[in-house]
Amino acid sequence: MPEARSRPAWAEVDLDAVRHNTAALAAVAAPAALCAVVKADGYGHGAVPVARAALEAGATWLAVAVVEEGEALRRAGISAPILLLAEPPAEVMAEALAQRLTPTLYTVEGVEAAAKAAVHGRPTTPVHLKVDTGMHRVGATPDDLVDVARAAEDAHGLGVEGLWTHLAAAEEPGEDGFTIEQLRRFEDARDRLAAAGIHPDLLHAANSAGTIAHPAARYDMVRCGISVYGYCPGQALDARVDLRPAMSLKARVSFVKALGAGERVSYGLRYALPGPGDLATVPLGYDDGVRRRLAVEGADVLIGGRRRPMAGTVTMDQFLVDCGPSSGVAPGDEVVLIGRQGDHQITADHWAGLLDTISYEIVCGIGSRVPRVYVGGGIEAGQRAEQPPLEEM
Ligand SMILES: *Cc1c(COP(=O)(O)O)cnc(C)c1O
Repeated sequence: MPEARSRPAWAEVDLDAVRHNTAALAAVAAPAALCAVVKADGYGHGAVPVARAALEAGATWLAVAVVEEGEALRRAGISAPILLLAEPPAEVMAEALAQRLTPTLYTVEGVEAAAKAAVHGRPTTPVHLKVDTGMHRVGATPDDLVDVARAAEDAHGLGVEGLWTHLAAAEEPGEDGFTIEQLRRFEDARDRLAAAGIHPDLLHAANSAGTIAHPAARYDMVRCGISVYGYCPGQALDARVDLRPAMSLKARVSFVKALGAGERVSYGLRYALPGPGDLATVPLGYDDGVRRRLAVEGADVLIGGRRRPMAGTVTMDQFLVDCGPSSGVAPGDEVVLIGRQGDHQITADHWAGLLDTISYEIVCGIGSRVPRVYVGGGIEAGQRAEQPPLEEM
């Protein structure tokens, strides 16, 4: 098992799980195409290995939030279409098009910037238009959309390939009516473009929740993020697709000491040992995404196939575990914070419940100094990383 040399702590990413999840989602979405969303470094899993695994398993598009993320995929030799989920600032439009990233556009200024940048690019640069149907984050209003679309169609070098929107509450069972209303507004926007003679080939609206819970939202393509990584966007959707969490967070015990009953530990002395016990130190802390509140909220870790409570305040680089009396726990023992050991499993959803957040924030929050170790095809992916970048192929 390769792991960090300077500190025995790592995040294990199972690329077989990514492939399994991708294939399951592709089957659910078919005949719609599957776009794997790999923004935020693949939700903390590593964008390049995840993108490769997803493309192997049936995804045909990738999506990222910012131009640099798309460039990194191109540098790794990935040639699949890559959608930018927000309109790039004018300053980076030329870079985006030079890397064959597909820009999302929703302002006339954005269209002008893309048209200017496209002169240096291919004969026709495909662009996707985004209409705001109720999320109210970014996107043209339904009233402005036709102007933006006309500008894009009239611009030399641009072609409107896609029209999309984003669902605000597809994972909320009580908000199905709102999702249906968003889809109605989306189809109305499509019809307005059609009346203007503009017929995008690719309509897309669904995130993971939309894909799983709202068949009507699948259109020509779905954009799945969290589900590719093995988590369901809402507890209510859990049983509908067989998803496997891809990331585990692991470490090795760095230090163990026996302490007497009542001994208080870590900053603020907030935890007192209920009886004599072995206190184990684990070399991960809040900088690594092991949030400071976890111990207070009653989080456990797995050591020696058993659940054991975190003890005291999590510090920046380390935390403590109360292993109880005569535990047999020793330095070097594997600690599972998220993942499986023996008969037990701890999920990012469990942490999310303790911390009143969502699995997305947990997996994205695993810090960049935690090395990602790939299993289930990681070595092959590593070898492919040696391939020359696109321009040289
Ligand atoms: C992040 C994002 C997605 C993916 O959402 P999940 O809930 O992770 O599936 C899809 N579309 C857009 C526009 C996004 O920003």
